[in-house]
Amino acid sequence: MEQSMQKTALVCGAGGFIGSHLVNYLKNLGFWVRGVDLKYPDFSKTTADDFIIGDLRDPILCQKILDRPFDEVYQLAADMGGAGYIFTGEHDADVMHNSATINLNMSYYGSKAGIKKIFYSSSACIYPAYNQEDANNPKCSEESAYPAAPDSEYGWEKLFSERLYLSFNRNYGLNVRIARFHNIFGPEGTWKGGKEKAPAAICRKVAEAENNGEMEIWGDGEQTRSFLFIDECLEGIRHLMDSEFTGPVNIGSEEMVTINQLALMAMEIANKKLSLKHIPGPLGVRGRNSDNKLIKEKLNWTPSVPLKIGLAKTYSWINQQRAKLES
Ligand code: NAD
Repeated sequence: MEQSMQKTALVCGAGGFIGSHLVNYLKNLGFWVRGVDLKYPDFSKTTADDFIIGDLRDPILCQKILDRPFDEVYQLAADMGGAGYIFTGEHDADVMHNSATINLNMSYYGSKAGIKKIFYSSSACIYPAYNQEDANNPKCSEESAYPAAPDSEYGWEKLFSERLYLSFNRNYGLNVRIARFHNIFGPEGTWKGGKEKAPAAICRKVAEAENNGEMEIWGDGEQTRSFLFIDECLEGIRHLMDSEFTGPVNIGSEEMVTINQLALMAMEIANKKLSLKHIPGPLGVRGRNSDNKLIKEKLNWTPSVPLKIGLAKTYSWINQQRAKLES
């Protein structure tokens, strides 16, 4: 394909979990891709045509990477982690300052560079805590975001940045697409070290345990969540980018499970029986599930792959990683 005909994409956060998968996905679609991150992907070599190591809090770097009117920009870079990182309160200032600075830079310089479209990854963490107190009946429909009351500073920053991109859309015609991701998981995601999320942490604990042993679960394990496999997240992003809908829209699964059920599912996959030991830990809201009415209406698409299929692929990958470390 001639260079001039080839579509161009910039992926900010291309060294992260979703960003590194997104680079592969865009390359398969035929894009010329530039990735930017503080680091290279942790688990495999990037497939980006150009990969710049740099700090997106730096306005000079942001101007440098936006050297052409990209067809698509994906802003995924954020200071984030699982419950062990965002709910302890210890990282609040960094989370808010680092992520907001990145978004302030990318909205402003993106707009000046004449980019054609920008995707921003918001989060289910923006939804009000008061609608998520009942484990069996959480409310996360898009319009329920206000009156705002996220349960973490991470959620507040995401809400601020949604509004920031929407303001650039209204005042400067920046063509934005905003998704609220709900717990994305899969191979090549963080699986140890404190920033990992529930599916990876549970797969690791099951993989590490001897059969008939025990595994630790934070809280009583009756808190509910839904989890979306990475392949379907990428499909959702594509549908949103190809649509005329600005969002914000949920990209998540509606298959809600308790954390205890998630642990049992991982045990079935591993063919192990473990007893659950419930210990105190950072928990987040009591219940959360994606509400997919709006995405279905606007994009005529919803995720459909059962949780167990994605969990089996993730378990198998984590088990391999573990074996590699031990050998
Ligand atoms: P991740 O932590 O794996 O990726 C984020 C990347 O941003 C990291 O590689 C990190 O190095 C990079 N980054 C952070 N600060 C930077 C800086 N100053 N300059 C350059 N790069 C920087 O996270 P992820 O799971 O891939 O999530 C991607 C996006 O989706 C994030 O914005 C996150 O908030 C959002 N999100 C993710 C989930 C999920 O379940 N994974 C859920 C909701 C929202």
